[in-house]
Amino acid sequence: MVDSIVKSGMKQLRERLRKLQDVDGRVRELNERKTAIDRNVHHVRERLAHLKEELNSRALDQKNLEVKLKEKELDLGGKEKGVEQLTIQLNTDKSNREYATLKHELAVLRADASLLEDEILQMMEDSDERQKSHKTLIAEIESQEQELAAAERSAEEESARVGSQVQALLEQRGNLCGEIDSEPLELYQRLLKNKDGQAVVAARNFSCTGCYMTLTQNSINYLMGDSALVRCHSCGRILYLEEAHQSLKRVIHFWVYHSKDNIF
Ligand SMILES: [Zn+2]
Repeated sequence: MVDSIVKSGMKQLRERLRKLQDVDGRVRELNERKTAIDRNVHHVRERLAHLKEELNSRALDQKNLEVKLKEKELDLGGKEKGVEQLTIQLNTDKSNREYATLKHELAVLRADASLLEDEILQMMEDSDERQKSHKTLIAEIESQEQELAAAERSAEEESARVGSQVQALLEQRGNLCGEIDSEPLELYQRLLKNKDGQAVVAARNFSCTGCYMTLTQNSINYLMGDSALVRCHSCGRILYLEEAHQSLKRVIHFWVYHSKDNIF
């Protein structure tokens, strides 16, 4: 596939298109870097938000535990008072039957109070454990907050650096675009978009390095002739000869020229 370009300076056009592709590649890389920086900050922010959520949930659990603990302590107080009263009643004159009933009630109440005491002790231990882990979580949040602040600072600096580099490249891009005719420029833009940033590729060993298909004899002739913008017949990318092939071309021209002298 060969597109004839009326304007002279085919080599210059190809070089400008290659430069433009290089600039576009660097802009793309810088934008990807900026996205990666932003993603990192976002990741730290998300982690921090998750930790804070967990901290709030644990604080609520702790509050609920303390409320329950208070209720149990009140309950225990009541039972202890009951034990006290039953003990006094037990020591006053009673019939054997009344004594036995009171003694049974006292035993049940003491057993309940003892269970409640065990429960309260367990809850107090849980509360201590939770407070310890709460402190650990707070320390982790503080460390994440410091990490986030550092990441944000560095992201801001890096973004500013990347931004000014992109700005300079876009200016360079604008100048290059101004030096290229609209027809090849539109072709380049279209290929850049559709061919994953590879609009201009080298022809190496008689193949296109974009799609690795062997080039037609016609394409090779045009590339050697340097008189047209040559595109790969298979993928449509714009082709250029690599330096090694350029030297080879010079050797062939030299040989053809001298052969003519010798023969004719
Ligand atoms: Zn190709």
